Amino acid sequence: MTTTRFNELRGEDVLYAIHRQDRTFLPSEADCPLCPTLPGRPETEIPFSRFELAVFENRFPAMESPEGACEVVVYTDDHHGSFNRLAPERAEALMWVWRHRYAELSARPDVDYVLIFENRGVEVGVTLHHPHGQIYAFPFVPPVPLREREADARLGGCAVCALCARERQDGSRLVVEDETVAAYVPFAARWPYEVHVVLREHRPSLTACTPAELRSLAGILQAVTRGYDALFDRPFPYIMCLHQAPTDGGTDGHLHVEFYPPLRAADKLKYPAGSEQGAGTFVQDTLPEESAAALREAVRRAA
Ligand SMILES: [Zn+2]
Ligand SMILES: [Zn+2]
Ligand SMILES: [Zn+2]
Repeated sequence: MTTTRFNELRGEDVLYAIHRQDRTFLPSEADCPLCPTLPGRPETEIPFSRFELAVFENRFPAMESPEGACEVVVYTDDHHGSFNRLAPERAEALMWVWRHRYAELSARPDVDYVLIFENRGVEVGVTLHHPHGQIYAFPFVPPVPLREREADARLGGCAVCALCARERQDGSRLVVEDETVAAYVPFAARWPYEVHVVLREHRPSLTACTPAELRSLAGILQAVTRGYDALFDRPFPYIMCLHQAPTDGGTDGHLHVEFYPPLRAADKLKYPAGSEQGAGTFVQDTLPEESAAALREAVRRAA
């Protein structure tokens, strides 16, 4: 059972999912619940001896029908794999899985916002090493997409379209792009190596993309995450979030993927501390143009 309380001072909802205290925490590979079920071994979450991609309801959900949903998306049956090392066809297939889950969840009357995300690395609180992502379907539009809605109102149209056009025109923060998808460190990035991966045409969600755009999106996401690993020559922790159109009846939203990596150097974490938590103001010691140049080079090296 999850209860929702409204935090008056912040003007936002907080979810209390008490049962999650007991969830599996960094099991050994032999006890991994996301590995395939092998003959003679106890059944995992996935009752098959091999699989490509798997989706199922989270056993420790923060939200449940009829008030939202939480799902797990397993990228591969290889315990030691990662998103950036999936075969290109598999990464492309993942875009179609995401698209299908967004379409199905967003059609539910109790779902106002679908957030697809991946936490990678113990630095961002990962509890299972097996390569996977998650989907949270919220019964309300959370504060971050509401802020993006406010940005649309402030800019008098789709904010993502306007910002992507600015970044492509300026070019100094571009990391990599192809005919349909651009990746850049945003002008006012809050994290040292924050990257936004954006559909160049206005596409509210994955369901509005052409097959070629989905292929491009997979390719650019893999290029960026391979560049991340090449940057400091180590697995690079990140939080990856897909922002798509809210499904509360609004008409806003433009598909883009935001990466929030917590590293500022190979062995230094950027903690959101006093100024960030207490005032909501991020303080950086690197300019986005410098980060973008380093990432451009890393993406080239990793290609
Ligand atoms: Zn595993
Ligand atoms: Zn747009
Ligand atoms: Zn966004």
